[in-house]
Amino acid sequence: MKARNAEIVGIGTELLQGALEDTNGRFLAEALHGIGIEVVYRTTVGDDRWRIREVLRQALDRAAVVVATGGLGPTEDDRTLDALADVTGRPLILHGETLKWIEERFARRRVTMPQSVRRQALVPKGALVLPNRHGTAPGLVWQKRGRLLVVLPGPPREVRPLFTEQVLPILLKGTGRGRRIRTRTIKVCGLFESQVEERIIDLLRAEPGTVGLLARAGEVHVRVTASGTAGRVGSQLDAWERKLRDRLGDAVFGVDDERLEEVVGRLLRLQGKTVAVAESCTGGLVVHRITNVPGSSEYFERGIVAYSNRAKEELLQVPSSLIEQHGAVSPEVACAMAAGVRRLAKTDLGVAVTGIAGPGGGTEAKPVGLTYIALADRQGEEWYEHRFRFAREENKLWGSQMALEAVRRSLLKTTGKK
Ligand code: AMP
Ligand code: MG
Repeated sequence: MKARNAEIVGIGTELLQGALEDTNGRFLAEALHGIGIEVVYRTTVGDDRWRIREVLRQALDRAAVVVATGGLGPTEDDRTLDALADVTGRPLILHGETLKWIEERFARRRVTMPQSVRRQALVPKGALVLPNRHGTAPGLVWQKRGRLLVVLPGPPREVRPLFTEQVLPILLKGTGRGRRIRTRTIKVCGLFESQVEERIIDLLRAEPGTVGLLARAGEVHVRVTASGTAGRVGSQLDAWERKLRDRLGDAVFGVDDERLEEVVGRLLRLQGKTVAVAESCTGGLVVHRITNVPGSSEYFERGIVAYSNRAKEELLQVPSSLIEQHGAVSPEVACAMAAGVRRLAKTDLGVAVTGIAGPGGGTEAKPVGLTYIALADRQGEEWYEHRFRFAREENKLWGSQMALEAVRRSLLKTTGKK
């Protein structure tokens, strides 16, 4: 079988109504892309026998591989099996091993098995049955005239292992000579999307489809895609990464799944330094992110959420006169917060965030989104001004991002010198 392209079909009325996010579709898209199978269509259809039949037929017409999920449940609204019988033209038969597995599952849990569950042991005659260790309904594979139809149950925790352990090997056999498509994401902080684009515009133009930009809260992702044999894609991506790092310098903070808080943590550990955090508008988000990283106790000492003016005075020793004179959202107060938390925690670094998260509380001079980040170290304080233009939670996310970035910047300056 030559598996060149694929269609992903999400089955379920909840998907159509927007009540459920199609995370299976996303997972399958990534997984297929990763083994060099181009996904050419993604279709969503409700729990309707005739429509499912129509969609599956059409999919088999226009793609070599069709992977569908959902609608294999035991309830009346799950119609995928009937549609499958129509599409394959084969009768549904009771699959003995599956029935036994389902009965055992119920027996183990000491639950009487509802009769409806027997339905989940039905399979089209001649289909390959993929045993499902994580659920009741098995996965089904139907192969005909070089086309491959895979149908999996809906729950993502069943889809992932079924696909990875049982479907992937079948697909890999068909793709031939280890052809791969791989993507690498180069992550940038401290530059806007347009600034990133400006620096790499020739690369974007020269290789359309190879390099793409994606703006995220406080970071920009540059995605590069390479295809070829398994051995070659890796070196192609390495070459791309070098080229991009060359253009973007230390605005590049990480690659692929690396998060800013992990990178900051690694730098702190490497330099043997500690940090403390004082937050106002981010309400603890910076600390939440820092402590999401395993092992953060090695370098994170404390975080103080000083939301009110009184808290800034009592917990961070910010002079009340400073707040009266400049306001709580000001470079002066941000610096006093950072210096205060550093002094109290006796850490190498102190970082502080104060801003107006919105939607209320803005004035002409100090609009919603105005945020000051300050960083204190042995030599004193430095501050950054940002003007975020988003809704409250996104402003907080940006604030936390810029605070982490301020720490990273400071650590980059001192790389090598302890
Ligand atoms: P079903 O096999 O259609 O009864 O689906 C069982 C459950 O799997 C649903 O209630 C959802 O929670 C989940 N599910 C089904 N399809 C999807 C999908 N495309 N993405 C994420 N979850 C899904
Ligand atoms: Mg369903």
